[in-house]
Amino acid sequence: MNGQVPAHLLNPTTLAKFSWTDTRVAPSAETVQSLQAQSQLGVSDLMARPAEPALSPQTPDVVTPTPSISATPRPATGWLTRLRGFFRVSPKLAPSESPTAPVSHQFNNANAMHAVVTGFLARASQDRALQAYAETTTAIQHYVLSEPDLRFYLSFADGQVWGALGDPPHAADLTLKMKAEVLDAMLSGALDGMRAAMSGKMKFAGDTRKAMGMQKIQRDLIRLYSAVRAEVGAPNLQAAVAPAVRQTLSAADERQEMLSILQSLYAQRLVTANGGNLSVRQSAQREQVWITPSAMPKGELRAEWMVPLDLQGRSLDESLPTPSSERFLHTAIYRARPDVQAVIHSHARWATILAIAEIPFEPVLTEAELIGRVAVVPYLAPGTPELGQAVAEALGADGQVALLKNHGLVTAAPSLQQAAILTESVERVSEVLVRLQQLRGNGAC
Ligand SMILES: [Zn+2]
Repeated sequence: MNGQVPAHLLNPTTLAKFSWTDTRVAPSAETVQSLQAQSQLGVSDLMARPAEPALSPQTPDVVTPTPSISATPRPATGWLTRLRGFFRVSPKLAPSESPTAPVSHQFNNANAMHAVVTGFLARASQDRALQAYAETTTAIQHYVLSEPDLRFYLSFADGQVWGALGDPPHAADLTLKMKAEVLDAMLSGALDGMRAAMSGKMKFAGDTRKAMGMQKIQRDLIRLYSAVRAEVGAPNLQAAVAPAVRQTLSAADERQEMLSILQSLYAQRLVTANGGNLSVRQSAQREQVWITPSAMPKGELRAEWMVPLDLQGRSLDESLPTPSSERFLHTAIYRARPDVQAVIHSHARWATILAIAEIPFEPVLTEAELIGRVAVVPYLAPGTPELGQAVAEALGADGQVALLKNHGLVTAAPSLQQAAILTESVERVSEVLVRLQQLRGNGAC
């Protein structure tokens, strides 16, 4: 079936329970009789050939995932080229509002998870770093996954690493039980293993000392798993995700998006190593936002360092770095504007020159028509609640762009991407306006 769900499926629940690795069970004589007594159509090869022995629980080769189960496409770069189409799109549904995935999804996800784990085990067995670990350590890790059900183990001994599906040949030193999406989040680096254990998302049994020792190879396991996941596609396991875990994963996605947008702005020199910051409303909790930390070189920032804030600008996790010093600027906008999902404050050079030179913002380029009204805020000390108040007032009920005199630029939009597009567009139009002014000053036009 090549991992695909047939177009015509009489009983989709059959697929929901299907597993490649379980023993195939023939229906009892009573079940067959009751099925025969039904008036609907029914097809089963088990009924047609009742004498055939049950299939062995042998596992198939690695399943090549179909495009439908590959990784969620990342937003492409080159935003300006897609401006027009993009702005016509209505704001996306928050993950919590998206419809429940159909049963067929779960079937595909079982295949995708199987493919990722199989590839991971193959790589782990050949990996030098893990072999070096096996020189000094003898241990068996057993993973027992649910939703979809999948068991596998990694064994380390005498400089050799063995990884295989199923249960280990000897008693495991460590048994880790969790839902498949928890493993996926852990081994792709989105969820910390210790946190998963402490919050009960992962249960482990066995030798605690060996469990602690295995922390040493956590980075290697993440490296190997992530490589396979990038190659064969990430299993979309959210169909079966419990609400608490879904929150963790969607939060991880939001912070990941913050990071990738920040890196893109940094590459364009719209934010500097320690100038500029961005925030996004939390999809699971609209009265809280994620914001970039303060005084942290942007080039080295990691998604897990984003700080949760309430709308008064207070950090909600003291164990994380100090939130951006412009937190009052961000939260003043969120308090005033329920429609705003994301705020970007950049130190855009051309936009700053435009504001200082008091050159009016004019729609000289096509992208300018999407920008709308551009507010100008007089100079106020950075990091103060007064600056936040002034920017929120200047944006008003529907403004998206404010130029901060002698300082930079603020964009507020229904998504991080739109705020980033606005930032880039304002900077581009500002550059053209400033250069035009120079030409006019030189008497060239
Ligand atoms: Zn600033």
